[in-house]
Amino acid sequence: MSEIIFDLQIFLLNLSFVFLLFFIYHKYIEGKINKFSNEILIGIISAVSIILCMTFPLSISPGFYFDFRQIPFIIGILYGGRKVGVSLLIILLSYRFILDHGPGFYSSLIIYVVMLIGLIFVTPRFQAATKFKNKLILATLAMATSVVLILTVIHFFNINLTGNGWISLILFYSTQVIAIALFILFIERAKTENHMLSELKELEKLKVVSEMAASISHEVRNPLTVTKGFLQLLQDKTISDDKKEFYIRLSLNELERAEVIISDYLTFAKPSLENVELLELNEEIDYVMKIVTPYATMRNITIHLFKAEAIFVAGERQKFHQCLINIIKNGIEAMPGSGQVTINLHQSNEQAVIDIQDTGIGMSNDQVRRLGTPYYSTKTTGTGLGTMVVYSIIKAMRGEIKVESQQGIGTRFTIKLPIVDCKM
Ligand code: ADP
Ligand code: MG
Repeated sequence: MSEIIFDLQIFLLNLSFVFLLFFIYHKYIEGKINKFSNEILIGIISAVSIILCMTFPLSISPGFYFDFRQIPFIIGILYGGRKVGVSLLIILLSYRFILDHGPGFYSSLIIYVVMLIGLIFVTPRFQAATKFKNKLILATLAMATSVVLILTVIHFFNINLTGNGWISLILFYSTQVIAIALFILFIERAKTENHMLSELKELEKLKVVSEMAASISHEVRNPLTVTKGFLQLLQDKTISDDKKEFYIRLSLNELERAEVIISDYLTFAKPSLENVELLELNEEIDYVMKIVTPYATMRNITIHLFKAEAIFVAGERQKFHQCLINIIKNGIEAMPGSGQVTINLHQSNEQAVIDIQDTGIGMSNDQVRRLGTPYYSTKTTGTGLGTMVVYSIIKAMRGEIKVESQQGIGTRFTIKLPIVDCKM
C-alpha cells in the first residue's frame, strides 16, 4: 500500500508541474505571440510534459508503463492542432521505444495512433466551441474514451496485474478524467480573464479618445472660423490684389493647421499595429504634446517641455503615446483651476528618464499605492484603467515607473526606459 501512495505522490507532483506549465502558457504567453509560435510552444510544453510523465511511471507490470502522459497528449492536441499532434505522437513513441521495446511498446503504438486519429476529429470541434461547457464535455469524453481504449488494449495484451496493480490502475485512470476536466477549467478561466483584460484596455483607450475629441474639435473650429472670416472679406470686390493674396495665404495656413490636428488625432485614435519599433523620445513626446495641448488649453493649463539630445528606446509607438497621454491627462485633470505640467526628458545611467510633473491636488501614500490597480478611480466618470494601462505598457517596454506625490502640491511620474544604442 505504501508503494501506491509513493507512486501517487510522484504522480501528483508530476501533474502539478504539467499543470503549471500549461497554466503559465495560457495565462501569460498565449495571445502575445503569433499563431505559429503558439503552436511550436504548445508542442514543446506538451512534449516536455509527456517525457516528464513517462520518466516517472507506475511500475505494476514489467515492460508496461502507466503514467499521466495522456493528459499533455490530449491537451496539446486540443489546443495545438493536428501538426502538434503528429509531432507529439512521434516524440512519445520514440521515447517509449528508447525506454523499452518489448510488447508494451506495441500496445502504446496502437493506443496513441488510435487516440491521435480520434483527436484529429475532435480538435476542430473543440477549438470552435465557444461555450466553456462544450469544451469541458469534449475533453472529458476524449479522455474517458482513451481510458476505455487503454484498458481494452491492456486486456488484449494479457498483462498480468497483481491485486494492488488493479487498484492502482482504477484509481489512477479515474484521477486522469478528473484531472483533465480541472485542466480545461483552469486554462479556460485564464483565457477568459486575459481576453477580458485586453478588451478593458481597448475600452480605456476608446474612452480617452472620446474625451479628447471635444477639445480637438474645439481646436479645429478656430482655424475654420478664421478661414471663414477671410473668405467673407474676399467677397468684397474692392480689395487690392495684395490683400487678397494675404487673406488667401492666411486661410490656407489655418486650414493646414486644422488638417494636422485632425490627422494627428486620427493616428492616435486608430487601433494599434502591435509592432515594436525604434522610437526617438524627443519626436514621440513632440507628437504627444500636439495631442494633449488642446485638452490642456481648454482647461487653462500650460505644458512646459524640456527636451534632450536624441534618445532611442524600443517599443510600440501608439502604446507609448497612449501611456504618456494617460499620465499627462491625469495631471491635467488633477488641476481643477489652472496649473502647469512640466515634462522633462534626460538621460541617466544608460537609461532614458521622462519626468512628468503637475501642480495638482496630489495623492496620499495610500492612493499612490493603489495606482495601477484596475478600477481605482476618484473621479465621478473615471475608469481607473488609465494607470493600469500605463503600468502594463512600461512593463512591456522593460522600464520602471515611480510616483512621488504630495497632497496639495503635486505629483511626479518618473519613467525610466532602457536606451537602445544607435551608434553601432
Ligand atoms: P481615471 O483617470 O479614469 O480615474 P486612472 O487610472 O487614470 O483612472 O487614475 C486613477 C486615479 O489615480 C485617479 O482617479 C486619481 O485619483 C489618481 N491620480 C492619477 N494621476 C494623478 C495625478 N497626477 N494627480 C492626482 N491624482 C492622480
Ligand atoms: Mg486617467
